[in-house]
Amino acid sequence: MGLFRKMREVFHDDWCSQCTAEMEVIRRKLYAMPMTVGHYVAHPEPEYYRKNLTPVSKKADIPTGQYACGIIAYRCPSCGHRAVKLDIFLPVRGIEKRERALYFDAGEMDDFLWQM
Ligand SMILES: [Zn+2]
Repeated sequence: MGLFRKMREVFHDDWCSQCTAEMEVIRRKLYAMPMTVGHYVAHPEPEYYRKNLTPVSKKADIPTGQYACGIIAYRCPSCGHRAVKLDIFLPVRGIEKRERALYFDAGEMDDFLWQM
């Protein structure tokens, strides 16, 4: 079950892990990460992102050579389950060089994502 769910998330990250319905995007935000090219350190824990991400209004606001993190919050219209995807990438001349994606679905990022 755990492996099946993980594999499904790789291919269909907008599917509900509880009932497989297609989830709606309810929030989408972009942040700058305090990490530069060549110095990427993986942080699996949500606390890191709550403490260190700086909101930006557009990709061009991310300084050259600095990592960015897009956050997409999903909600399942069928069962109400919510999930958050963190998409970590390095913007390089207009393209996004993906580093990794993280998923949190126990509300770890809620107060951070809905603040202000
Ligand atoms: Zn669902």
